This record gives sequence, C-alpha cells and structure tokens, in this order.
Amino acid sequence: MSNKKGRVFSGARPTGRQHLGNYLGAIKNYVALQDEYNCVYCIVDVHALTTVETTQNLRQNTIEMALDWLAAGIRPEESIVFIQSHVPEVMELHTYLSMVTPLGKLTDLPTFKEKIRLHPNNVNYGLVGYPVLMSADILLYRASAVPVGVDQAPHIEFARETVRSFNFRYNCDVLVEPQMKITQVPKVIGIDGVQKMSKSLDNHIEIAATAEETQKRVMQMVTDPQRQRRSDPGNPDVCNVFSFHKIFSTPEEVEMVNTECRKAGIGCVDCKKMLAKNLNASLAPFRARRAELEKDTDAVWDVLMDGAKRARVIAEETMTDVRQAIGLP
Ligand code: SF4
Repeated sequence: MSNKKGRVFSGARPTGRQHLGNYLGAIKNYVALQDEYNCVYCIVDVHALTTVETTQNLRQNTIEMALDWLAAGIRPEESIVFIQSHVPEVMELHTYLSMVTPLGKLTDLPTFKEKIRLHPNNVNYGLVGYPVLMSADILLYRASAVPVGVDQAPHIEFARETVRSFNFRYNCDVLVEPQMKITQVPKVIGIDGVQKMSKSLDNHIEIAATAEETQKRVMQMVTDPQRQRRSDPGNPDVCNVFSFHKIFSTPEEVEMVNTECRKAGIGCVDCKKMLAKNLNASLAPFRARRAELEKDTDAVWDVLMDGAKRARVIAEETMTDVRQAIGLP
C-alpha cells in the first residue's frame, strides 16, 4: 500500500539533450517529488507541434530527453514516464474541454499574445487551444498537484476553471481540480551572463556534455563586466560564475571566491577552472548512468511504451466517467 500523498503530473516538450537550466529548474525537482508523490511525467510531443516547423528531430529529441530524465534519477518502475501522443485519450478530452472554454478567454491570455509575437507566421488553431490541451494533460490523470514556478501559476488556474466549467455544465464531479505546488524555480542564466539559459540562444551547458565541452563552455562564461584586468577587484554578486559556484562548489570554496574576487586575489580563469572541475565532478555519476542507458536505447523506448500502457489505464478510467457525464450515446 503506497503511503504517498497523491498524484503529481508534469510535462515538458521534447527539446532534446537537457541543459543545466532544465536540470536545476525542473528535472531535479521531478526526481525529488518521487519520494512523496506518485508521479506522472510526460514528454509532450503534441504540444511541440503547435510551434515547430519540422518534425525531423522529434524522435531523436524525445529519446535524448528521456535518457537525461532517466539518468538523472527518474525511476520508471515507480513513476509513469511516457510520450503524450501515445495516450490518444488526451486528444479526446481536449475536444470535450474545448466545448466548455470560451474562445475569448483563450485569445486574451498573455501567453497566447506572446506566442503570436514569437510565431507570427504560424498562428494555428492548435496554438489557440494550447491551454486546453495542457488542461487535458493534467485532468486526464486526475493529478492532485502540479509542480509549477510562480510564472506558470495562471496555467494551473486555467485548468482549475476548466474543471469547474465542465463539472457545472454536465452537473457532475468527474474532473478534479489540481492544486498548484508552487516550486522555487531558480532562474538559471546562460553563459552570456544576461539571458535565461536556453538552447535557442546557444548560451547553455548540456548536462550530458563531455568534461572537455563543459570546461570550454564554462571558460566562455561572461563574468563581472567591470572587471577588465586580472588586477581589478571583482564583484561576485553580479557574476554568473559565482551563482554556479553557490550550487556546485563547497561552502569553503564559495567563501574563498567571495572574499578573494573582491580583492583581486583570484583571477577569473582560475575561478572558472574551479567551477568546471566541480561541475564535472557533480555531473559525473549522471553521465556514467547516461552512457550505460545509451548502449541500449531500445530499452529506453520500452520504458516509454510501458509508461504509456500504465498511463492509458488511468486515462481510460477518466474517459469512461467523462463520456458518461456528458451523456454521449
Ligand atoms: Fe566572477 Fe570568479 Fe571572476 Fe569574481 S573571480 S568576477 S566570481 S569569475
């Protein structure tokens, strides 16, 4: 008998090999949540179709992401890990939910306006309904909680409102309002020292990169812009290298950098070398596990297939209740 608190759902687009921003912002939390909750983790490939122009890399990106998730510590024998399109019930629920969602509510969403701005030549019907599909993802598995950063809270509120609309329209209680599990998501800045770490900006460090590649990327990191010469004192408070030291270095090393940087006692090159060394040491067990998993990617596909099978059992139960509540013949 499981003594876990309930079911958590989270999904992420198949973006391929994951970077430190993905790891610190989501994957680490996914791993930790498994101790408290029954977790359902979904690679949302259908969501990706709303904005991608080619699906050429979709399969490869999916397996790369799954490899990172599993190597990082997601336990598929415990958690359900699967691909969204392998559970077609989500598309059916999406359709039903769309009937209780006013169009104006979707087009007024700031996220929709932002998407139009980013993809002005591809404003498709799926893009408008994106939050409805996202709600269907959560509601299909009757998740009791969804881990989100503060900025994503409106998405969960949207899902909660959708539950109320559906249950009211069909005079039922078959859909469950998910609770928000607000998570402290650290904003991980890229190696440019300015923008959020992202693959598209090429300011990222892949967690599965080799030690050499990692060191190369760390050495490219932008530091305190005021520190022009080795003899100039620096300010770690405005230096992204220092932010990473706080995560990957020992308290003694952090203290040393904090003190020595301010009096030019340590140069940026040595400071970065230390970070690269610590980062590589911290990621070494993950990389070793990933290398093992990579030897048999068929087994990783099997994990995803098995996850879909288990997800469909839950999905089918929900859909039986949903169809009945609607009164479908
Ligand atoms: Fe940043 Fe380290 Fe250089 Fe100080 S010594 S500016 S913390 S890289």
